[in-house]
Amino acid sequence: MGNDRYNAVVVGAGPAGSTAALMMARNNLSVALIERGKYPGSKNMTGGTIASMPFQQILPEYWNIQGIPLERRIVSDELWLLDNDSAVRIGFTGKKFGMAPYNKHTILRYKFDRWYADQAVKAGAKLFTSCLAVDLVYHKTGPLSKKVDGVMLEGGDVIHADVVILAEGAQAALTQKAGLRKRLKPNEMTLYVKEVLELPAEKIEDRFNLEKDEGASIGMVGYPPSPAIGKGGIWTNRDSLSIVVGGYLNQIVGKGLNPLQLLERFKGHPLVKRLIQGAKPVKYMGHIIPKGGFKKIPTLVDDGIIVVGDAAEMISGRRGMDLAMITGKYAAEAAAQACALDRYGRDILSSYEERVKGSFFYQNMKKGKNVEVYFNKFQDADFLITKAMNDFAYKYFEQNLDTDKNNLRKMLEELINMQPLGKSAKDVLSGLQNWGVL
Ligand SMILES: Cc1cc2nc3c(=O)[nH]c(=O)nc-3n(C[C@H](O)[C@H](O)[C@H](O)COP(=O)(O)OP(=O)(O)OC[C@H]3O[C@@H](n4cnc5c(N)ncnc54)[C@H](O)[C@@H]3O)c2cc1C
Repeated sequence: MGNDRYNAVVVGAGPAGSTAALMMARNNLSVALIERGKYPGSKNMTGGTIASMPFQQILPEYWNIQGIPLERRIVSDELWLLDNDSAVRIGFTGKKFGMAPYNKHTILRYKFDRWYADQAVKAGAKLFTSCLAVDLVYHKTGPLSKKVDGVMLEGGDVIHADVVILAEGAQAALTQKAGLRKRLKPNEMTLYVKEVLELPAEKIEDRFNLEKDEGASIGMVGYPPSPAIGKGGIWTNRDSLSIVVGGYLNQIVGKGLNPLQLLERFKGHPLVKRLIQGAKPVKYMGHIIPKGGFKKIPTLVDDGIIVVGDAAEMISGRRGMDLAMITGKYAAEAAAQACALDRYGRDILSSYEERVKGSFFYQNMKKGKNVEVYFNKFQDADFLITKAMNDFAYKYFEQNLDTDKNNLRKMLEELINMQPLGKSAKDVLSGLQNWGVL
């Protein structure tokens, strides 16, 4: 491998990197895909579901592809505002989502990423696993100018390439080395832990009210990461459940929380306990999500280099994998154009940046640009709203001996006594944006 030259080298075989490699190989570019894990996905984690519509931009009707490791098609999507022993449940169940072209599928990354990288290999990309890229190498283009011209691997081997695509995920060490992104501060990332719990398919279908192969996704706010701002969640796989909990790193550390204890506490909640009863833990993992938001999007291109996916902080609400794939696709197209022109400068590669800036997710991120700041300032916002909604619902559903008018007055009084109504409205709005509902 040492000192080989390719049209492009991609660092990281997650959804962003494998998409870029696949699309470039399809375009007859020579591509090296570098992955530090023993196999793609061995170090990766998500909730999670993958959105169908964006994925189809890369692999149309992907669900028909032989051997694709999809778990379940999501027909039920819920958000639970969870209090100590109750929940306000907001959600939608749509049988239409159970039919092609579907809405979302659950996946397990240790199966999915391996399969997906293999699609890039089948298209002609060369995959190198257990291979850590430790630095960028440069080529002088003038007395004062240089371009990125490849990567150096642990051990000293160099892979040269006209274009380097950094798809290295949230930590983004090389993106930082290239001077394109700053190190994330603890208040600019969330830390999540996850357990995969085995449970027979029939039990899953019974407990979540599903038919065969149908799936459910439940996001939970309030109680799970209490007293930090974050989320918990449960996703149904074919014969296992994914259970996840976490929150902002600065709050987890600052409040002396231990992620493992958070997970155990979450699993012990009466409404969660019921769902996971008898399930056997088979995998445990942890991961961060970059949460700098719109204001922290790094420089996306420079001479000879493009940044995609989590490394580029492309996270919007609950969506990340599909945005990783789309940015991987855009990067592949920009690289193909550069190779056709045999010009690899920022001026040519910036077509990638323009497409990202014109995308729906960039607009969404822009709209929610103050959410992270808000939740770092008002760290109790999730709990206040969750608590208020649960108290409100309790009173609403309670069959007492008072008039409807008095009951409504008491409910409103309670809400107003908690905090000014304007602040509650802001909490709800920011919450909806943060939870990925708006
Ligand atoms: C708890 C949690 C829940 C989530 N839920 C969802 C969800 O339900 N839906 C959704 O769409 N998104 C979800 N996301 C976000 C989603 O997982 C990410 O946005 C997505 O994985 C980003 O893909 P990526 O390819 O950019 O990076 P990654 O998936 O992180 O892949 C990066 C790859 O690069 C490799 N790598 C890193 N550095 C190097 C190096 N120097 N040399 C070689 N290889 C390297 C890594 O091993 C890895 O394979 C969730 C994330 C978390 C943590």
